[in-house]
Amino acid sequence: MSEDQQCRQDFISAKLKLMEERCRKNRLSLTAQRRAILENLSSRVDHPTADQIYASIHDRLTGVSRTTVYRVLETFVHLGIAQKISNPEAKARFDADTSKHHHAACLSCEKVIDIHAGLLPEIHLNEWDLDGFEIFDSSVVIVGLCKDCYSMDGVARSFKIN
Ligand SMILES: [Zn+2]
Ligand SMILES: [Zn+2]
Repeated sequence: MSEDQQCRQDFISAKLKLMEERCRKNRLSLTAQRRAILENLSSRVDHPTADQIYASIHDRLTGVSRTTVYRVLETFVHLGIAQKISNPEAKARFDADTSKHHHAACLSCEKVIDIHAGLLPEIHLNEWDLDGFEIFDSSVVIVGLCKDCYSMDGVARSFKIN
């Protein structure tokens, strides 16, 4: 196993352990579905939609529906073990990495990649007059074309879409 894979494995185990704790504290049962969905979400870095997670686990889990997956993901967000990220599409995307970071979304293939918080200057929103708006969290979404799509082909395709 490579160092990266080992790192990912440790992250998945830590996430599952955190879920066990939070479920116990909130009197939620530790279902096989919750475990499988968190395991899948934690193993990927593509910020999947509920549908994408459903597509990769439904053949292993009997009786799971798209709605179940969506509901479980919402529960994870409430428990603080995943976050829902904003993106240019209407579909919600989920991230098992709840640390402070930003995202870049590709307009052509719709993939979402992580931008580490340190790469962007701190935004001091509280210094501005926001008409009493109380900020709990903030993140930046950068929109553009990923490396794979920024080829002639990708550029042509995205111009056609727009
Ligand atoms: Zn792309
Ligand atoms: Zn992320």
